[in-house]
Amino acid sequence: MTPIPETKRMFRRILIANRGEIAVRIIRACRQMGITSIAVYSVADKHSLHTIMADESICIGPAEAAESYLDIPAIISAAEVTDAQAIHPGYGFLSENAKFANICQDCHIAFIGPNVQALAMSGDKAACRQVVEQSGVPVVPGSSGKIKEPEQAMKVAQKIGFPVTVKAAFGGGGKGMRVAHNEATLKHDVSLAITEAQAAFGDGGIYIEKYIEGARHVEFQILADQHGRIITLGERECSIQRRHQKLIEETPSPGLNASQRAKMAKAALRAARTINYSNAGTVEFLLGPDGQYYFIEFNARIQVEHGITEEVTGIDLVREQIRIAWGQPLGYSTVIPRGVAIEARIYAEDPEMNFRPSPGVIKRLHLPGGPGIRVDTHIMQGYEVSHHYDSLLAKIIAQGKDRTEAIERLHAALEEMTTEGVTSTARLCSRIVRGDRFRRGDTGPDLLDEYLPSMG
Ligand code: ADP
Repeated sequence: MTPIPETKRMFRRILIANRGEIAVRIIRACRQMGITSIAVYSVADKHSLHTIMADESICIGPAEAAESYLDIPAIISAAEVTDAQAIHPGYGFLSENAKFANICQDCHIAFIGPNVQALAMSGDKAACRQVVEQSGVPVVPGSSGKIKEPEQAMKVAQKIGFPVTVKAAFGGGGKGMRVAHNEATLKHDVSLAITEAQAAFGDGGIYIEKYIEGARHVEFQILADQHGRIITLGERECSIQRRHQKLIEETPSPGLNASQRAKMAKAALRAARTINYSNAGTVEFLLGPDGQYYFIEFNARIQVEHGITEEVTGIDLVREQIRIAWGQPLGYSTVIPRGVAIEARIYAEDPEMNFRPSPGVIKRLHLPGGPGIRVDTHIMQGYEVSHHYDSLLAKIIAQGKDRTEAIERLHAALEEMTTEGVTSTARLCSRIVRGDRFRRGDTGPDLLDEYLPSMG
């Protein structure tokens, strides 16, 4: 069937600078909009779903991400060779790289994401904290700007009190974050964090924040067009994490009441306006046990967990990203989410071995289905889960008219799923969602700990 073009004036060809489930997700959006999708792939991904599914595909290098999915010259060349008008970077890889977005701009290729200035500002988390604080949005107490040496960190810690977190200013994905409980560990952590940040992110900038014990992670999805309209599409709660990385997410947050929700949504919009944000993005907050909220950072990209927001709003966020990048106005100003959506991330990791990656070949695969179940994945029977890339296998999303229905659907779906050949987080997620604490909505960050010792 020939797809019906959304409008006559739209990108004709989009290159997707990513792999895995998000590349597949973007290919689907392009197809529905009548846009030709172009996949890039590494040698290891020659037979991967995104390579097969895209209208066109082009090899950009060897398996190592640094020489393929992170190789800016290789990706720009691929876009030039295939005559792509725009690049969708997905999440991870080059998605929040202001230098890459700038090069796209110089090469007259649209970058489907925020403008370069907003990207640069959100990428420097220490500077961003300061700017957002100046706009009147509460931020976690901590250093003003970056910390240069341990003595400086000590002074801030004495002022705000222990425990504190040491974070890389240009870090992400839960990497480079440490929690220090006293002066001795702080001194050690600061020196180590500077060295590590330099090696991992090419910049040794670090900053410190008060560690808010028992804080929930609550984030707001925003959409901003290039004509000054900015809206929020509600929040997601993502407090259940391993290694500071999310495992189960849901919307709306069971930890917020209506007045807190309204206040935080307003703060999210204010923070985004302050940095002149455009396209899709997420404003992340911590919500303390006392109900106080604090801005922590922007995620200037489409996020892994965007699907739950789509399920309760009916808005296709990837389509909106493409429309906004083309210059179309949002065309609506309020979105009222309906029902509840919960996502479980299925990683090829062994929860009993401290979430050690479990690469291998998927010998037998069965994916769940049924009313209210959405599965975003790139895996197939016979697919080899490579140690080169992130170990995300699939996202199982359940939607229901209320939380009970969403939980029941998610639990049944997780029980139905089979990925023989690799160990995954499916069983753990299934146990968590059917547990009393999750059902009560008591989804604080310590919930996961209760499941780990008894996993044996
Ligand atoms: P990254 O960008 O690497 O994901 P974040 O700053 O978003 O790093 O932190 C990751 C997670 O760690 C957050 O989702 C939150 O749950 C937890 N966290 C971050 N900062 C603090 C803090 N100051 N106090 C308590 N928990 C925190």
